[in-house]
Amino acid sequence: MLNKNYKILCNINLTHENITVNNIIQQIQTSLKNTPSQLIGCILNDVQKSILDKYMGKKWNEFKNKSVPWMCPHCLERSSFVRRGSRSRKLKSSCGTIEFNLFQVTCSSCTKTFSPFPQLLGLKARARISSEFEEKILSIVLNNSYSKTSDTIDLLTNGSISHTSIHSLVSRASNLIDVKHDQSHFEEVIVDSTKVKTAHSNRGSDIQLVLAPLSKTVKYNRVINSKKLLYISVNKSLKHMNKNLSNYTCDNVITDGDIAYNTLISDIFEKATHRRCLWHLPRALNHLLYMQGIPVDERKCFSKALIHILKEKDFRKARNEYVQFVYLFKRIGMTPIENFLKNAFNGIFYNEEDWINTKINKSSSLIEREMREINRRTDLGCRWSDEGCENLVKLIQIKKYATHCWDKYFKQNKRPIKQFLQVSLFS
Ligand SMILES: [Zn+2]
Repeated sequence: MLNKNYKILCNINLTHENITVNNIIQQIQTSLKNTPSQLIGCILNDVQKSILDKYMGKKWNEFKNKSVPWMCPHCLERSSFVRRGSRSRKLKSSCGTIEFNLFQVTCSSCTKTFSPFPQLLGLKARARISSEFEEKILSIVLNNSYSKTSDTIDLLTNGSISHTSIHSLVSRASNLIDVKHDQSHFEEVIVDSTKVKTAHSNRGSDIQLVLAPLSKTVKYNRVINSKKLLYISVNKSLKHMNKNLSNYTCDNVITDGDIAYNTLISDIFEKATHRRCLWHLPRALNHLLYMQGIPVDERKCFSKALIHILKEKDFRKARNEYVQFVYLFKRIGMTPIENFLKNAFNGIFYNEEDWINTKINKSSSLIEREMREINRRTDLGCRWSDEGCENLVKLIQIKKYATHCWDKYFKQNKRPIKQFLQVSLFS
């Protein structure tokens, strides 16, 4: 469609003092700084001209019967159009700001003037940032603050973007990317929550995360756990969670023991075995003992005793010891702890076969790691809005554990690149 040679004139002026590798890199970067964006602008104009020439004939010599690859958006006319002028347009990209023209046509049947090219060129309506640039910015912001991202973009690309624009980019992408899976049944689902500092309340808001661990693979002697993201939200009701999880079923569901999840588990995952995370139990016990004013050393003894019981291989022995352990707290009058342990019983001791089956995951440690990552990224010393926090953590999790949703949103950037340009340098 377009076969053209573009030549770039490049004048390099090096003296004896500036011939180190770094000098030359700098020289070339400075003198060719605007070249990519200018070249892209030229090509965009040429592509449009060649399409117009091909389907409508040259200016002043237009074809009589034209069959064009677009349609009038106002009256759905397909063939009678007249060439018009153009409007200038700017687009931020990682190569810098591209300035080009959008060529227009007038529909002969409804006399409206429009440009058929945003659609043909894959330009989103009113988009001021190219989708490849968007993806790069979002990939950086998932691990860095908004202002650091802005600095990094300045440093490494020819483009620039303010931290407020990055903020709106994050909220737009987060609202447009849906978490959806083809698979609806999972062997295992882990539900957990963590707190994030928000303006909503002094104690912060809950981030609720639901992941489904998949197969384990070993790479370079390290076990790699792949997971799927099923749900993430900040300070949303359990109803919202119910609604979003209702498409899924599972065999096992592991929680940290938050009572709020009990109804959720029995409502949605009716048939699943409800497990209490064995990693959380001694830690939760430690916290409860602390609330009772028990000194550190004694707390350690109790936690150790519980860990010992949970590691016991003999099902009956472990169960008996656990009952004894509960009874101990009853005797010394610590009712909250007694109740806590009683409530956890069914989630720990399912049956003998289950107890010795080491293949079943009985801890939510996989999600703990994610929570630590989320805490790291959201701990900025300032308070988030619930919405702002959700937008960001949702994207972080989508990029990692719902990759197909991310790719679908950026599908334009995922096509294989074919060489179609010839650019030559001469001096
Ligand atoms: Zn029309």
